[in-house]
This record gives sequence, C-alpha cells and structure tokens, in this order.
Amino acid sequence: MVLIDGKKISLELQSEIALEVKDIIAKGKKQPHLAAILVGDDPASQTYVNNKVKACQNVGFKSTLIRFETTVSEQKLLSKIDELNNDDDVDGYIVQLPLPKNISEQKIIEAIKPSKDVDGFHPVNVGRLVLNLPTYVSATPFGIVQLLERYNIPTDGKHCVVIGRSHIVGSPMSILMAKNTKLANCTVTLCHSHTKNLKEHTLNADIIIAAIGKPNFVTADMVKEGAVIIDVGINRVNDASLAKGFKLVGDVKFDEVSKKSSYITPVPGGVGPMTIASLLKNTLIAAKKEF
Ligand code: NDP
Repeated sequence: MVLIDGKKISLELQSEIALEVKDIIAKGKKQPHLAAILVGDDPASQTYVNNKVKACQNVGFKSTLIRFETTVSEQKLLSKIDELNNDDDVDGYIVQLPLPKNISEQKIIEAIKPSKDVDGFHPVNVGRLVLNLPTYVSATPFGIVQLLERYNIPTDGKHCVVIGRSHIVGSPMSILMAKNTKLANCTVTLCHSHTKNLKEHTLNADIIIAAIGKPNFVTADMVKEGAVIIDVGINRVNDASLAKGFKLVGDVKFDEVSKKSSYITPVPGGVGPMTIASLLKNTLIAAKKEF
C-alpha cells in the first residue's frame, strides 16, 4: 500500500507556484492577488481561511482578508462583491462557505465575476467544466486529480465510484473523472444517499472517492483488493485524550481499508492540503489571464 502524501505534493506545487510568481515579478508585472471574504466566526471556516492566507504568503501572492459579522446583510455583501469584481488589483477571490442562513449562497456565487471565481463555483465555470473548456475547476476535485497525476495512478478505463454529489466536491469530481483526457477516462458511478446497494458499486470500483461527511463510513468489506482510495471527508470526532477535545477523521475507516488498498490518502494530510494548493493554482491562472 502506498500512502498518498498530500502535504508533500501540496508543498511541491506551492514551490512551483512561488517560482512562477518570482518570474512574473521579475518581468515587472503585478503581484498576483487573492482576496477572501469571511462572514462570522465559525472556527472551521476561520481555520480554512487563515490557512489560505498563510499559503498566499508562502508563494509570494498578495492576500486580502475581508471580514464581516454574522449579522451582515446580503446587500452589503453584494456591494463588496461588486467592488472586488471591479478592482483590477484583485485577480481572484473566494467567499468562504457556509454563509449565514439569511444570505442566499446561490445569489452570492452568481454575483462573483466568473473570471475571478477561483473557487470554480459560478454556473459559468461549472458549465465550462462540463463542456471541457478551460475553466477554474473547484479546488478539491482539482487537487485530487493532481494527486492522481503526481503518483502516476492509472485512470484510463478504470471504474471510479464517487460517493457524494455535492456541488463543490462529488459532482465536479464525477465530471472530471469521466472526461476524455489523459488524467481521467474512467467509467464513473456517482453514488448518493438514495443509492441502493452501495456496497455492490464500491466492490466493483478500481478507484473510490469518498465525499460524504460521515466518519469511517467506507469499511473494508466495501472495498475490492488493490483499490485506490481517495478520502475527502473531514469529520471532527470527540476525543477527550486530546487537549482540543476532538480529532479529525475521514469518511474511510483507514486502519482496515488501508490494508486492502493499493493507494490511499490519509486524513489529515491527504486531500485537504491539496485543496489549498489548487486554489493558489487557480489564482495564478487568473493572474496570468490564461482564458
Ligand atoms: P455534503 O454534505 O454537501 O454532501 C454529502 C454527500 O454525501 C451528499 O451528496 C449525500 O447524498 C451523500 N451521502 C450522505 N449520506 C450518504 C450515504 N449514507 N450513502 C451515500 N451517500 C451519502 O458534503 P461535501 O461534499 O461538502 O463534503 C463531504 C465531506 O468532505 C465533508 O466531510 C467535508 O468536510 C469534506 N470536505 C473536505 C474538503 C477538503 O479539502 N479535504 C473540501 C470540502 C469538503 P444526497 O445528495 O443524497 O444528500
């Protein structure tokens, strides 16, 4: 079994991005700039955004964090988005989700200028992904494809089972894996909470991508010998022995599934770090105005 080291690959990608940034600046061009909007004080969202800002510093990007109270109105948020859309210094920006219930996430996402939507959530960018046009692929699926590439994991003609169909992970992941490109060409089965006999599907999978949000959901009896396992889940489970009172586990029961798999991502240290590297990559694409 090969443990897929997302942390290492993420750092490799960040070094490559940092070199490109140096080159951009040496040519007298402007420093790439990523902005992030954070609403409220949800601890997980704060951690994610702080990590993204820190990663920007690592690669030489300029970063701007814009914070709002949970009570901010939708209108105020839309005005800030309009400002960012028209700010030539900002190459790309993200709005950290989830947003408070009184704000329509869809309305906010649709207000983001597609050419600055480095999270790849805008319907225009999702449509471009479906049509195989250059686009910002949402960061987590983009990160997973890069992991498969860097580990030379064959995908052509393989059966890939994606569990979960969210707009940010499962659905774009299934589209990417089914593409007629070097890093895909899988036969894809997309499973969700209404799938009957999930185990029948997963037992036939050469590659399983689990994006469910349920700790230890995928067990060894669901996995065929030699399968590639990509665990997207990040779940907090109580652990009184730790000072913070919880630990992070994935959607895959790592101890038993790792024994049957050919490749597997750990949680933490697998897909998570790649999500940040992919966001930086998308920002670089935005700064270079590649499409
Ligand atoms: P969502 O809650 O939006 O989606 C979960 C999906 O799992 C849904 O499609 C749901 O089906 C499906 N599901 C739920 N129960 C079952 C079941 N019993 N059998 C089969 N499918 C089921 O989650 P996200 O996609 O946003 O996130 C998934 C996980 O990935 C979470 O743990 C999240 O924290 C993590 N994550 C990690 C990231 C990273 O960087 N590593 C980035 C983003 C997310 P249905 O549609 O029918 O409800």
